Amino acid sequence: MTQRSLSSLNWVSQFLEGTPGDEVTGGSPRQVPGACWSRVRPEPMPEPVLRLWSDEVAREIGLEVAEPGLLGGNGLVEGMDPYAQRYGGYQFGNWAGQLGDGRAITLGEVVKGNRVMELQLKGSGKTPYSRFSDGRAVLRSSIREFLCSEAMHHLGVPTTRALSLVTTGEDVIRDVMYDGRPAPEPGAIVCRVAESFIRFGSFEIHSMSGDGRTLRILVDDTVRRHFPGHSSDTDEGLVEWLMEVAARTSQTIAHWMRVGFVHGVMNTDNMSIHGLTIDYGPYGWLEGFEPGWTPNTTDSGTRRYSYGQQAQIGAWNIARLLEAISPLMEDPVRLNGVLDSYYDSYREHSSRMWAEKLGLDEFEEGDGDLVTDLTSNLQLTETDMTIFFRLLSTIDGTDLENLDPAFYDEGEIRSDEWNAWLTRWWDRVDGKPDRGAMLQANPKYVLRNWMAQLAIDAAEKGDYSVAMELYEMLKNPYSEQSEHEEKWFSKRPEWARNRVGCSMLSCSS
Ligand code: AMP
Ligand code: MG
Repeated sequence: MTQRSLSSLNWVSQFLEGTPGDEVTGGSPRQVPGACWSRVRPEPMPEPVLRLWSDEVAREIGLEVAEPGLLGGNGLVEGMDPYAQRYGGYQFGNWAGQLGDGRAITLGEVVKGNRVMELQLKGSGKTPYSRFSDGRAVLRSSIREFLCSEAMHHLGVPTTRALSLVTTGEDVIRDVMYDGRPAPEPGAIVCRVAESFIRFGSFEIHSMSGDGRTLRILVDDTVRRHFPGHSSDTDEGLVEWLMEVAARTSQTIAHWMRVGFVHGVMNTDNMSIHGLTIDYGPYGWLEGFEPGWTPNTTDSGTRRYSYGQQAQIGAWNIARLLEAISPLMEDPVRLNGVLDSYYDSYREHSSRMWAEKLGLDEFEEGDGDLVTDLTSNLQLTETDMTIFFRLLSTIDGTDLENLDPAFYDEGEIRSDEWNAWLTRWWDRVDGKPDRGAMLQANPKYVLRNWMAQLAIDAAEKGDYSVAMELYEMLKNPYSEQSEHEEKWFSKRPEWARNRVGCSMLSCSS
């Protein structure tokens, strides 16, 4: 029997059929008013080589073989009708106008069972939305996207997925730290997969240009295809749909807080309408527990998108989405309830996750103080978030010594504050924390910034073994995997403290 390849999948083009698009195919960067998409062709690459592959994602879409050529943008199979999506967005709080898929090209949608999944190449060449850039992606950012999206999935965090990573055989010029020192880097293409890549900004662009007709079509099409059980026909229907979007968004952000993930660029063009984590750029993972930390150097001045700001920014972004949908409402004031529902839903998810992290049977009044005091203790001296919570999940009694490995400098441990907190926590759980829940809420392994960087350093020399090791290990982030403990259940090494790519990332990808 022949193996199922891309050409044997059931390709459809529901987004192209359901929404208005550009009359021109391809073409140079320009404004495309009234359109939700432009047809484009991926640019052929000189030497596509498959480097990373997700068997699981392949299985989900019904694929049995990897075809590096097609996944590197060389050629199409019957049924693919590639396009770039048009969207806008608020970047760092300011309306930025038309953005769109400047370096992402959707090959098409695949139907399998009752699911439809969109396959998109990131880094496959220019589109009408490429603005001033080249439509390419570099190996380093592609490895970061591949590893992190798969790791997030296994952590239980809603996310877009990654099917493959192909190197292109072509160099791409990037000025990593925007300091006037551009250099060639290897190019790569990730094929990513999601229900859709529709963003808050996909709606905003039509609303901001006063195009109520296109907005209406996009909303109706999105709700009908992606939110079964919902309707966009009435104010009530729209409010209920938006409450669902708000609930999913709040849940995903609560998960980010649980695992210590910082997205880094929560612009509204990077907010998925499905509430998925999307667009892995200068993201990072907390090592020391620091609410003000952001890996994104572009944001180092205001720290708008730092770890501790994410829930609030989620609300700000939901508010922009509500404004975008308001022209479709007879009584837009009813949208206020959606923002309230976002906060309620965030509080609910966050409380439940804190209860799980601390092994509480449920989150009760008074537990808020336990959490607040814990988060201030975690900032007394540099303390590794992942190691702290993992050790807390197995700690016997209230012996502070068991937590030593979480602290960077054992000489600096503030025992009084810690002993007081541990005693309180131990009393609260009656000496019987729900360890099962804790071990499922507090991962042992996450994609620490320096771990991704080690995978990149090796890959840039042609060695993908570190990337593969991390990919495999991060499939089971909650299991002990003692063989990995010494190397990867470990605080940030000193070399990574100020290294570009570990503590500092830019949007240059
Ligand atoms: P991001 O910061 O990755 O969310 O991207 C913001 C906008 O810039 C999106 O419209 C991207 O498509 C576009 N963009 C980012 N990198 C490139 C690139 N190398 N070529 C073309 N467009 C890009
Ligand atoms: Mg983006």
